[in-house]
Amino acid sequence: MARYTGPACKLCRREGTKLFLKGTRCLTEKCAVERRAYAPGQHGQSSGRRRKASEYARQLREKQKVKRIYGLSERQFRNIFDRVLKEPGVTGEALLVALESRLDNLVYRMGFAVSRRQARQLVRHRHIQVNGRTVDIPSYRVRPGDEVRVADASRELVLVKHALEQFGRAQPVSWIHVDTDKVLGKMTERPTRDAIPIAAQEQLIVELYSK
Ligand code: SF4
Repeated sequence: MARYTGPACKLCRREGTKLFLKGTRCLTEKCAVERRAYAPGQHGQSSGRRRKASEYARQLREKQKVKRIYGLSERQFRNIFDRVLKEPGVTGEALLVALESRLDNLVYRMGFAVSRRQARQLVRHRHIQVNGRTVDIPSYRVRPGDEVRVADASRELVLVKHALEQFGRAQPVSWIHVDTDKVLGKMTERPTRDAIPIAAQEQLIVELYSK
């Protein structure tokens, strides 16, 4: 299944919650979830959000929500899940750690882009280096100790400067250190679940995929 490229706000309305898909812009723009608190589409206002959801529906919605937060296709999301299944520890937490360790997510968390979508574009257009080497793969797995930076030639990009100006509004995470003057950041440690600011019930996703 291809990645969704339509309006971000529509996805939040579909899930009935703010997913912050526009990153720091969500803090300044009028939020569609607040303005129109019903699902998108012709039957949005009459859809069954008031009905009690089945267990399967809750699991499915939770998976869709997390998948949309990170901007992944079903296949990408499932591949990550299958990979973390082989890792020791709690699968749900390992899933979130793997998602947070993607290069596009780190570029966003470090404040070099205002959203994960924009971060992915920066990576694909070869503006990002990991440990001094250009990496143009958004799914690249960053490991503790790795240094992520915006390439010297790209530091004057308007979108990078704008993102850094907005950075103070973002939710800082404890496992990343950022030097905004040098436009570089370091993943200092593997995040724990408590240090990942995503309101998700990842256990529901594990249950869904374990059926
Ligand atoms: Fe979602 Fe942000 Fe749009 Fe609100 S403004 S609906 S949080 S993408």
